[in-house]
Amino acid sequence: MTEQAPLNSLYQQLILEHYRHPKNKSDLPDKTVEVRMHNPVCGDEIQLQLKVEGDEIKSAHFAGQGCSISQASVSMMTSLLVGRKLADADALAARFTELMHGNASAASDKALGDLRALQGVAKFPVRIKCALLGFDALLEALKQSGHSGHGKIP
Ligand code: ZN
Repeated sequence: MTEQAPLNSLYQQLILEHYRHPKNKSDLPDKTVEVRMHNPVCGDEIQLQLKVEGDEIKSAHFAGQGCSISQASVSMMTSLLVGRKLADADALAARFTELMHGNASAASDKALGDLRALQGVAKFPVRIKCALLGFDALLEALKQSGHSGHGKIP
């Protein structure tokens, strides 16, 4: 029995679809927080903008450039953030990090939505940073929005 191909064609298509037609890639005029992240290894750049009200994410947009993994990941991520509590967004980031570390239960977790398409990236350590770049920005944005992290609201 062979392992699942690193990036099977369905997942590859989904990644390219998000890369070519990213979701939420526009300026958010009423943003409450904005975080820039850069991955010098690959040259990826992400500028994440959130509108946070109380402990809920009302909108999530981004700007950026770079490889398909980094840009598809942040597109998929922003699609999952709207309407989430800050603690839920934190939990999503933790779950996705588990996926990038090859966690098998994360790979079948529907909560990750399209992000599951990136599971093959776990086999390419140099690309994991690309996939996590948007989440690095998210965690910093949560911190700046007053969330202290790891499922707890102060
Ligand atoms: Zn990259």
